[in-house]
Amino acid sequence: MMRATALNTGETDFPAILRKNLEILQVNLGYVCNLSCTHCHVNAGPKRTEVMTLETIREVLAFIDQAKIKTLDLTGGAPEMNPQFTYLVSRARAMGVKVIDRCNLVILEEPGYEQMTAFLAGHEVEIIASLPCYLEDNVDKQRGKGTFQSSLAALQRLNALGYGQPGSDLQLNLVFNPQGVSLPPEQSSLEKAYKDYLLSHYGIVFNRLFALANLPIQRFAKYLINKNLFDEYMQLLKTNHHAENLEQVMCRNTLSVDWQGYVYDCDFNQMLALPLGALSESKAHISGLNFSILNGQPITVRDHCFGCTAGQGSSCGGALQSL
Ligand code: SF4
Ligand code: SF4
Repeated sequence: MMRATALNTGETDFPAILRKNLEILQVNLGYVCNLSCTHCHVNAGPKRTEVMTLETIREVLAFIDQAKIKTLDLTGGAPEMNPQFTYLVSRARAMGVKVIDRCNLVILEEPGYEQMTAFLAGHEVEIIASLPCYLEDNVDKQRGKGTFQSSLAALQRLNALGYGQPGSDLQLNLVFNPQGVSLPPEQSSLEKAYKDYLLSHYGIVFNRLFALANLPIQRFAKYLINKNLFDEYMQLLKTNHHAENLEQVMCRNTLSVDWQGYVYDCDFNQMLALPLGALSESKAHISGLNFSILNGQPITVRDHCFGCTAGQGSSCGGALQSL
């Protein structure tokens, strides 16, 4: 019988994997969020208080410079709610680093954030935005009442600035998460359905859709346990494991940083407080990390990793292969 607690222990039959060259730094700017989505794997919400400080942001920038990081991928919570968000983005862009903002869209419609869309466009920040479904009822059920309409308003404003438009450099990608105990459907067919529906109903355009699996940790794990579905979901992930996805799982070239500056193999391991596989210390900080020793080092894996390799595979950049 599988147990949710096994995710934090060393027991797993997930294959061993090693790091490749470090290219992407994924930074969690804090757990404060304007929403409290049912699938949230960081348990973010309006009552959380954890926020990355300016001092830690400066340490992150120093690491980006030393390690020649190509892409800075910002997550939260709602990353825009960190008071240093615009400082970090401006500095990283001035260093020639590509910046991704994992945006919940609704934040762009909140009071106090009226200038954010123009800031993002002006700094050519790629937006990866959650829109768990193109149907209003499903989105409001997962993210809260009124979130679908706010998301549409934000998408229309982003489109008006050039985001997602053909020929524009302003990239706007959407993220789909399944609801309940299922794997995401085939990404390219779903992308076509999203594009057709959003264009014909709301005049909205975007670049790509990323269909991501829900990993059985944090709020989603609690949901599965409460519904007595945890074992069934783990079995689904394990049965659909595809070894060819191992080559491209995001932890191979990405390092994850928490709001206090501690580093992990990925965002999911960060949420489970699983230490970086490359080091013996239980907690390593970005300010003292020697990036040159990471290549070829082991990655800490557990049962939740099957969420990245099941079916078409799942990473921060969507499916890993076509089904
Ligand atoms: S918007 Fe994102 S970070 Fe905020 S609660 Fe929803 S899933 Fe979590
Ligand atoms: S959960 Fe993290 S460590 Fe495990 S395969 Fe996915 S990205 Fe890699």
